[in-house]
Amino acid sequence: MSVSTAYTGVQANKEGSAFTCAACKATYPAAQVAGTLYVCPGCSHHARVGAHERIRQLADKGSFQEWDANLTGTDRLGFFDTRAYVDRLDEARARQQLPDALLTGSGTIHGFAAGLAAFDFGFLGGSLSTAVGERLARAIEHSAEAQLPFVCVTSSGGARMQEGVFSLMQMAKSVSALHELAEAHLPFISILVDPTMGGSIASFAALGDVILAEPKAMIGFTGARVITQATYEQLPAGFQTSEFHHARGLIDRVVDRRDLKAVLAQLLAVLAGPAGEIDQALA
Ligand SMILES: [Zn+2]
Repeated sequence: MSVSTAYTGVQANKEGSAFTCAACKATYPAAQVAGTLYVCPGCSHHARVGAHERIRQLADKGSFQEWDANLTGTDRLGFFDTRAYVDRLDEARARQQLPDALLTGSGTIHGFAAGLAAFDFGFLGGSLSTAVGERLARAIEHSAEAQLPFVCVTSSGGARMQEGVFSLMQMAKSVSALHELAEAHLPFISILVDPTMGGSIASFAALGDVILAEPKAMIGFTGARVITQATYEQLPAGFQTSEFHHARGLIDRVVDRRDLKAVLAQLLAVLAGPAGEIDQALA
């Protein structure tokens, strides 16, 4: 099989039939690495995957029903840096096969129904545009209406620079939507993957009832280099990694991607399923 970079967001080699690990530089057949969910068979480096591939990995086959498929954003500020923002948007939409940097819908995870959202870092750094914020808020609201727990996989650089203050407003909007979920007594499981930074970790992503993270993901507000330049402080080893935050209580558990679906099903069973299903899931 060939690796579709549009769907996975992973680095495939020129022929598309092999996969080169960004960490250990070893090369494997694409089919083998697809089978390990784009975790390197040699060094366990977790390659970045796109939103479509993430949903494929987590949702039971054929169960995913996309929400708000036609909800896209516009260029309100007429932003132009070295290129027009509208051109960057069009290019990202075509390449990632997404309306914006977030894919949402409902599906089942080992039989447990949930609202699902997955960020796509390949779409302008998974940044928080107005459309992403609206899609996220609606996904949370759809989940609350349907009495579904909500699962969000975040991979985001934070604010969408090209949308200025409109981007920052999405932080408040997503947090406000999560309040509806809490009022409905439905759990929010937040999964942080490489990287989760800026306005995303400073708002909804840090508010999970349960917060999971993939190994060695970079998670923080501002990058380590900027902090070092501003404070002249020597930062501790492993700063801003999943493991660093787990040791300090920000993250509940660091989960290998190959175990993620099973762990999610267990959590959904405990948090949202009837009592009989708990025994079944933990058996
Ligand atoms: Zn490797």
